[in-house]
Amino acid sequence: MFKSVLVANRGEIACRVFRTARRMGIRTIAVYSEADAKALHVREADEAVLIGPAAARESYLDAGKVLAAAKATGAEAIHPGYGFLSENADFAEAVMAAGIIWIGAPPAAIRAMGLKDAAKTLMIAAGVPVTPGYMGEDQSPDRLKAEADVIGYPVLIKAVAGGGGKGMRRVDAADAFLDALASCQREAASSFGDDRVLIEKYILSPRHIEVQVFGDAHGEVVHLFERDCSLQRRHQKVIEEAPAPGMDAATRAAVTAAAVKAAKAVNYVGAGTIEFIADGTEGLRADRIWFMEMNTRLQVEHPVTEAITGVDLVEWQFRAAAGEPVPLKQADIAMTGWAMEARLYAEDPANGFLPSIGKLEHFVLPEPSPLRGEGWVGVEAPLLVEVRETPAESPRPTRSSLPPPHPPTPSPSRGRGASLRIDTGVEEGGEVSQFYDPMIAKLIVHAETREEAAEGLAEACAGVEVWPVRTNAGFLVRCLEHPRFIAGDVDTGFIGAEEASLAAARPSTKTTAAALATVGLRADEALRANELSPWTDGLFAFRMNGEPHTPVVLYRNGERVEGLLSGDYRGGAPRHSTFDVHLEGEAYQAIGTPAYVFVDGEQVSGADTGDGRVVVFEEGDAFEFSPRLRGGSGSGTASDGALRAPMPGKIVATPAKPGDTVTKGQPVVVLEAMKMEHALVAPFDGVVGEVAFAVGDQVAADAVLATVEGSD
Ligand code: ADP
Repeated sequence: MFKSVLVANRGEIACRVFRTARRMGIRTIAVYSEADAKALHVREADEAVLIGPAAARESYLDAGKVLAAAKATGAEAIHPGYGFLSENADFAEAVMAAGIIWIGAPPAAIRAMGLKDAAKTLMIAAGVPVTPGYMGEDQSPDRLKAEADVIGYPVLIKAVAGGGGKGMRRVDAADAFLDALASCQREAASSFGDDRVLIEKYILSPRHIEVQVFGDAHGEVVHLFERDCSLQRRHQKVIEEAPAPGMDAATRAAVTAAAVKAAKAVNYVGAGTIEFIADGTEGLRADRIWFMEMNTRLQVEHPVTEAITGVDLVEWQFRAAAGEPVPLKQADIAMTGWAMEARLYAEDPANGFLPSIGKLEHFVLPEPSPLRGEGWVGVEAPLLVEVRETPAESPRPTRSSLPPPHPPTPSPSRGRGASLRIDTGVEEGGEVSQFYDPMIAKLIVHAETREEAAEGLAEACAGVEVWPVRTNAGFLVRCLEHPRFIAGDVDTGFIGAEEASLAAARPSTKTTAAALATVGLRADEALRANELSPWTDGLFAFRMNGEPHTPVVLYRNGERVEGLLSGDYRGGAPRHSTFDVHLEGEAYQAIGTPAYVFVDGEQVSGADTGDGRVVVFEEGDAFEFSPRLRGGSGSGTASDGALRAPMPGKIVATPAKPGDTVTKGQPVVVLEAMKMEHALVAPFDGVVGEVAFAVGDQVAADAVLATVEGSD
């Protein structure tokens, strides 16, 4: 076995690979860009080499710099993680030519599977069923459209060099084909430097089933069962699980055998994944699953396979790269229980899922509980039953009598018996930058049954507290608790169909009460001290212990919320009209420190932004309340009708022109940033005032791209 490994990657996957290396006594070497100088993966490594500026092209994607770093540090092996250079056959060859061990797929296999059209042709020859479609040389729009017409709508246009769900468009009718083709080619050219596409029959009620395979240099290939990754948003995986719900023995035998055949056809070595698409209209059936593509690398969702099989796939990768045989025979690979993974993205579901960048001022993830069978380690704010039945009379708890903010308290409510693993590459105080993928963590739960796994994962996601960066944690909770998901009845269109109910949530009355009481208390403190403070904004002559019922007004997303507060907080219990709210000490502390607010005896987590706003965390969401009505700057749309760039990027389309009448939700400007196209939509019905930029323009974060004027 080699004694040192360089990971040519960043974030959670770099940290993940280091973990196994450390356990095996292998020296760990990180590479990093200027933007990542303080990143977790750099600090976790034994050694780290700066390889260039923030832009991936000049650092993580620069093969020469990565190789130079390996030589300078004497790295014996290179693990590429996923993304970046992991499926770059030229890089793999250069690594091996330099006498360094490549912990990845053989270059020939990467090439054979690299382009979707060539891979499909190869699979047809190997006798693996593939999705019907067109994958010819002739790329003229007329020919492509004619082929789509023959295949029959709906069809899917796919970039042949595509990956990660990018460069794909579903087309439902002939007249929409050419526009979709142009947009797909644009994205393909800018993301993959190759605008060629193929056309596939769009499978109805599609389910994404993939098989983990593993090969060694001695010709052996085994599988480690399947994963179901059907819960996707715009073809990007959101929640993955293993095994697949509703998979029967015959279908599993067929799909795993096809996967092994596919891997053998390219003499595969190491960890790989064969992706299939299944027509789920009548459940999973052996004759309705088709090969889609092979990913010649470790997959983001590999932890669910590790959970059900007990195999450390990174250790297997190390062993295969060192020339060892596959550690287990097929017959000895067994599966127990159910595993589920949720991808935590820095994005704002309530605002079109725009990526959210910035400093992680407050970043709290639930406590992992690596031991199975020990009982679920919950993170829900503990119920302090003894604290406040009648808050006005019971003694006020002192801070020292309170539990730490996130104690590992067994929760009787959800997900008992599940264990939690968290793979992350960020921490509080770190940055989510515009330069890299917005996935900041993965939460993985393993339990005996699917129901327990789903409950445990919902519980874990509900415990995520992040601010001011937005995340999809609340959205994940709602997906996991949706009756269709619980029933195992999900295809890749689920999120699209249910997006309205899944994307945005409203705070509960309890959360609102906590915010009102906190702000009321703050204002009272400021007034007593005779200070001008952001807290007193909009609170005219407020006195907590003055009038018996003092109104407090706050705004959330431009919406007014109010409450009546009464009581003397020094006596310990200001009261919301319906809730008994107990505020301990200074209520919410500044960002990063514990908060103690109890509503009806239940602790509510939150943070104070220091500028008059208060953030309350509830079920994965971060609800922000402000004493003042403000335009939501930086969030893409504002109440004043200005559409601002949420991050730097390039204008790729301007579907609306000045003077056009638009309805709420209609795209006005399309921005390409972080390799994705983002439509900025009209915040309300109105008329487009100005469109400030043209297609091709680079824009800075916060630039006003267009304005919409209300039509009243
Ligand atoms: P990528 O390489 O970008 O991940 P894939 O080819 O693996 O692209 O497809 C990604 C997702 O797109 C699949 O998981 C599936 O949800 C959807 N998809 C792909 N092909 C089809 C198809 N023919 N019909 C319906 N959905 C499809």
